[in-house]
Amino acid sequence: MKMVVMNKNARPFAALLAASALLLAAGCGGADGAAATPGQPGQLSVVASFYPFQFVAERVAGPHARVTSLTQPGAEPHDLELTPRQVASVTTADLVVYERTFQAAVDEAVDQSGNQHVLDTATVVPLQPLGAAGEHAEEEHGEGHAEEEHEHGGLDPHVWLDPTQMATITAAVRDQLTALDPDHAADYRTSAAALDAELATLDQEFRTGLAGCERQAFITTHTAFGYLAARYGLTQIGITGLSPDAEPSPARIAEVQQEAQEHGVTTIFSETLVSPAIAEAIAGDLGLATDVLDPVEGITGSSRGQDYVAVMRSNLAALQKANGCS
Ligand SMILES: [Zn+2]
Repeated sequence: MKMVVMNKNARPFAALLAASALLLAAGCGGADGAAATPGQPGQLSVVASFYPFQFVAERVAGPHARVTSLTQPGAEPHDLELTPRQVASVTTADLVVYERTFQAAVDEAVDQSGNQHVLDTATVVPLQPLGAAGEHAEEEHGEGHAEEEHEHGGLDPHVWLDPTQMATITAAVRDQLTALDPDHAADYRTSAAALDAELATLDQEFRTGLAGCERQAFITTHTAFGYLAARYGLTQIGITGLSPDAEPSPARIAEVQQEAQEHGVTTIFSETLVSPAIAEAIAGDLGLATDVLDPVEGITGSSRGQDYVAVMRSNLAALQKANGCS
């Protein structure tokens, strides 16, 4: 099984696994990424493809569901492979929440499962073509990009980095849970409304926090922030494209360095789940800073926050610092 876990994350990852094992032993739902074991009597079993959807499902379902994620904490979700147990869990789940075209293994498991209770978030948040949002994102296509576009049908999966799209997904999850379990409809409505309010606050913080900046452009290794850039009037310059572990060509690096100087950027962003080496190399040549912009594809001990909302706030602070926002 291919799983990209960087060494620096090895210990927190192990700690999380241990914590999950404890939670399992205690009979509670946990982010263990294992097959969905049946919840407590009366609990729904919800399988989420990866962290952001797990976060929404846990928040909306509260005690009424046991939510598992198919992507282990700290694993890179883009190239996920599933164990037979996980494939089985997709078949037996009361609800599966995933995004078609993002993780081929999950698409396949859903197709094979015959499970009718699936929420494909791309049906409520339509995916945009690559580079439609951040104008500089995908101007140049290295070999890796061509392959990627083939895999993803040229669509950018990273809708969860726009809090307003997370609110749309929250409403869709609420509707699914309400239909499956009408007895607890009032609870689902209440917890969905609470999450919706939190996401609206986050959106407002981004809008005001990024309104008065010296620069709009930002440079990031993983081209994950197109929807965020579009929402808040920023311009994303991506280095490696959609796959976090792709290697940029020397030509692409030279272009990025030129763009960095043209736009006066101060910071090259990398992310928590992959090596910062590329960002450090580019920044070092130009005497720029490096910092973390987290695509929130998983929470580990090195994440700058305990959940989606907290990590997004850290992203906002990093963008404000890099772009001279008052
Ligand atoms: Zn990504």
